[in-house]
Amino acid sequence: MKNIRNFCIIAHIDHGKSTLADRLLEFTHTISDRDMQAQVLDDMDLEREKGITIKSHAIQITYPFKGETYTLNLIDTPGHVDFSYEVSRALAACEGALLLVDASQGIQAQTISNLYLAIDNNLEIIPVINKIDMDGAMIEEVKDQIVELIGCKPETILLASAKSGIGIEGILAAIIERIPAPSGNVDAPLQALIFDSVFNSFRGIIIYYRIMNGSLKKGDKIQFASTRTDYFADEVGVLKLTMTAKDEVKTGDVGYIITGIKNAKEVKVGDTITLANNPAEMIKGFEEVKPMVFAGIFPVETDAFEELRDCMDKLQLNDASLTFELETSQALGFGFRCGFLGMLHMEIIQERLEREFNQTVITTVPNVSFIAHTSKGDTITVNNPTEMPDPTKLESIEEPFIKAQIVTHADYIGNIMTLCLGKRGIIINQSYLTSTRVELTFELPLTEIVFDFYDKLKSSTRGYASFDYHPIGYRESDIVKMDILLNSEKVDALSALIHRGRAQDFGRKLCEKLKELLPRQQFQIVIQAAIGAKIVARENISAMRKDVTAKCYGGDISRKRKLLEKQKEGKKRMKQIGNVEVPQEAFLAVLKLD
Ligand code: GDP
Ligand code: MG
Repeated sequence: MKNIRNFCIIAHIDHGKSTLADRLLEFTHTISDRDMQAQVLDDMDLEREKGITIKSHAIQITYPFKGETYTLNLIDTPGHVDFSYEVSRALAACEGALLLVDASQGIQAQTISNLYLAIDNNLEIIPVINKIDMDGAMIEEVKDQIVELIGCKPETILLASAKSGIGIEGILAAIIERIPAPSGNVDAPLQALIFDSVFNSFRGIIIYYRIMNGSLKKGDKIQFASTRTDYFADEVGVLKLTMTAKDEVKTGDVGYIITGIKNAKEVKVGDTITLANNPAEMIKGFEEVKPMVFAGIFPVETDAFEELRDCMDKLQLNDASLTFELETSQALGFGFRCGFLGMLHMEIIQERLEREFNQTVITTVPNVSFIAHTSKGDTITVNNPTEMPDPTKLESIEEPFIKAQIVTHADYIGNIMTLCLGKRGIIINQSYLTSTRVELTFELPLTEIVFDFYDKLKSSTRGYASFDYHPIGYRESDIVKMDILLNSEKVDALSALIHRGRAQDFGRKLCEKLKELLPRQQFQIVIQAAIGAKIVARENISAMRKDVTAKCYGGDISRKRKLLEKQKEGKKRMKQIGNVEVPQEAFLAVLKLD
């Protein structure tokens, strides 16, 4: 145990976490040159493409140092706020963290929010300034920022370039010399903290854990503390580049277990694995992960519903955080109301449905989860605008709030204030990291973030602001349901829940946007926004006069074919509502309002 070090790398996105992990693995020959490919730890296609780490993974590094051999377990953490609970559990499995800061960017919002999580988990922090090879590197300034933020001595800050391999040896030495070895009692009953799980179509669910106390042998009968259900340890082992089976894993180790579980729902991040015949208490910090954002997913072809259901079932087997239930929409037919951890998670699910399962789907306006209290005294969770009780039967509504950290240049404080106050935000704190860099803390309604907050923040600060947040619970709020009517017909899939003070403006902008997005047809289309019976906005799309293909007559044939193909493509995601054709973009128009 004294030669084990469990650590993670925390950083703002793009500050070089994956690149540094690659260098550490390469330098320690954990991966042979032959197997080396950029960003080895990001192994899902989508992770590579989006350049983000979605799932956390772990890898064991063996490293000789001053005459002894050390086992270093690198636990990779997800880099997106949607997965912040997984980040917190991955951190809880470590004793130390490399805090990586880009020398050209300095401290950003995620640097701070991850640092706070690491401090909450009592981790030893090793600050590292990365990208010192860059022309724009501001090493001294970033040093000052770090000293100011964590109160360390400047000489404890390491300098590195993950790209060119500078400083890697020093980082490894610091991991061994500064991060404490795991503590815990090998003879105590087993307590292993689950920080991740993955689905393997051959082996079922593979659970990743860190053993806090006790030991785990192949063949042991294990128990999950949250549900007190039992399984057999068919295989246990450690995570080298591939899984390496062992007879026994012990206190301090990071490892995997295979139990024959096929459904991801049975395994919960943050839960404790213990032994059925000698159970221990649950490790503190366990939470059931709850979906934060809800949206409808419908097949474009109504008869593809059964097939879609099949795909959703399969997806859920390997993504426990996805929830769904049947939804019927007058406009879109049968589909599913799905719950996601956040907007990125929603995007990932939609892309996986299309890529891995070959489904063509329509996604409706996302909304957060509201709590409605009726005058009769019932409490209803509203995950869908159609579930909102009639206003006359409502006592009150609550909506979820978040605490947001924004890091920016002092020049942009005014713009950010305007933006956040306009989004019903409350400023909680303002503190200077240096004379020109400021950290602002706001409380904001989550629903305002879901829509277009991030893009607005970027444009009002010319990109010089970073942002991170976490949920802080529900608060009472004045929310109304906004309906959209196309030629007097209400389109349930376009309804949205919105704060009363913003409803008028929202309705007007939504009508304008729909006017842009709906194709002209042979007849006039009237678009209306209504709160209850009251129409708050209206737009007209006049009837089309000319045939669209007319301009091609006499033109060259290939151009005409291209146009027809393009129209066919467009058709794929059109939905006929009453007599109006509505394209997919229109269902997400809310996200694109300025
Ligand atoms: P992550 O989001 O923290 O995992 O960041 P990545 O490791 O994906 O790196 C983001 C970008 O920064 C990539 O284009 C890397 O090639 C680049 N990068 C990472 N480390 C360095 C470095 O030390 N120097 C320079 N110049 N670029 C780097
Ligand atoms: Mg990465």
